[in-house]
Formats: sequence, structure tokens, C-alpha cells
Amino acid sequence: MPEQDPHPEYRARALEEALVERGWITPGSIDGRGRRTGDGEAVSAGAVVVARAWVDPDFAARLLTDATGAAASLGFGGGHGARLVALPQTTVVHNVVVCTLCSCYPTALLGPPPEWYKSDEYRARVVRDPRGVLSEFGTVLPDDVTVRVWDSTSETRYLTVPRRPAGSEDLGEEDLRLLVTRDSLVGVRTLPPLPLPPPAGGPALDDHRQRDPRDPRDPHQGDRL
Ligand code: FE
Repeated sequence: MPEQDPHPEYRARALEEALVERGWITPGSIDGRGRRTGDGEAVSAGAVVVARAWVDPDFAARLLTDATGAAASLGFGGGHGARLVALPQTTVVHNVVVCTLCSCYPTALLGPPPEWYKSDEYRARVVRDPRGVLSEFGTVLPDDVTVRVWDSTSETRYLTVPRRPAGSEDLGEEDLRLLVTRDSLVGVRTLPPLPLPPPAGGPALDDHRQRDPRDPRDPHQGDRL
């Protein structure tokens, strides 16, 4: 075996085929765990689905009525036969996902669940005191927002659809994917607004150019033509 495999994707594909042949996974289920964007940043399949919903109202409508079909239309499936249900976060309702029985999770879109999701503490407390648990994640919701807790099963897996962050209006779908966090897809966190651009006429970001090129403190002295 070479020290460094120049084509790990072929080995990964062969491994996937072997697992499919043995019936341990379904075709496409590994692809459903995540994709990489053009600049190499890993994003979950859930992030791909949500970003599409943010830019495509028809897809968003389908996602809310038939999430299994909508995700499959983007090539994501293999949820071991479980039905996927998408829960939109709104200004009046905030949804949180749990599995009180064990650890059912939208694995086909997010990969394996994090440790906290499987913990006895989360599973018990999020039902009794969802606002208290959410606040421990840094998610403090206004009093007039209704919090709904959804109990996953082996038949039904839930994915929450976070609201598109304020300030992301000019971003394209690929960039939007990078904003979508795992925790926002199960409802324990919301997505913060993007930082505002610097005000017009304010201080320039690159203040090197305002320095005297002869200033000995200028680390770029001598760089200039
Ligand atoms: Fe479970």
C-alpha cells in the first residue's frame, strides 16, 4: 500500500460498495452525511438542504410538506426508512428535537448525534424545561415565543429549519451553507445575525496604506514598487 493514497475517494467508494453489498448501509447513505463546498469547507447535508430552502421558495414549500422527498431530490436519503419531517423556526414558534427513548436523530442529514443529544440529562430535561436547557446553549427566546419539543422515533426524524440570518441577503447558496450549524438544525441554537459592514466613510480596514512608507515601524516598508 502506498504511504499516501493519491486517490482516497476510490478507496472510500470501494468501501461503500462493500458495505452496501453486505446490506449494512443503503446506497447513497454515506454521501448523505456531508459534502464539501468549493473551498474545501465541510458542510452537512442538512446545511445543504436548508440553504436551498432559503434561496428557493418552491423547494422550501416542498421541504415543509414532504421533507423526505425534498431531501432525496438533492441526493440525500438512506435514513433507514425513517420519514423526515422539517420544522420551520418562526418568530412565534421555536422547535427543539429530542429522542426521549434513545437517540433517534436525523442521521442521514447530520451524521451521528453529538454526545449531549444522547445524554440522559438532555433527554429528560429538555421535555420538562426546554427554555432552561436552551438557555444553557445560549439560546434565550422572548417570552411570547412558543417552544415545541418534538420526540423523534425510529419512524420519524425531525430537522429544524433555522431562520435565515439577518445580513445574509446578499450571500449565495454556497456561502449560506456555511452559516448553518448542526445545533441550529436540531433547534438548540439559533443563527446570529451577520456582522454589519463598516460604515461608509469610516476607518479603512487596511490601514497600512495610510502609513508613511518611510516610517521604520511600517512592517511593509520596502514592499512597495
Ligand atoms: Fe431513539
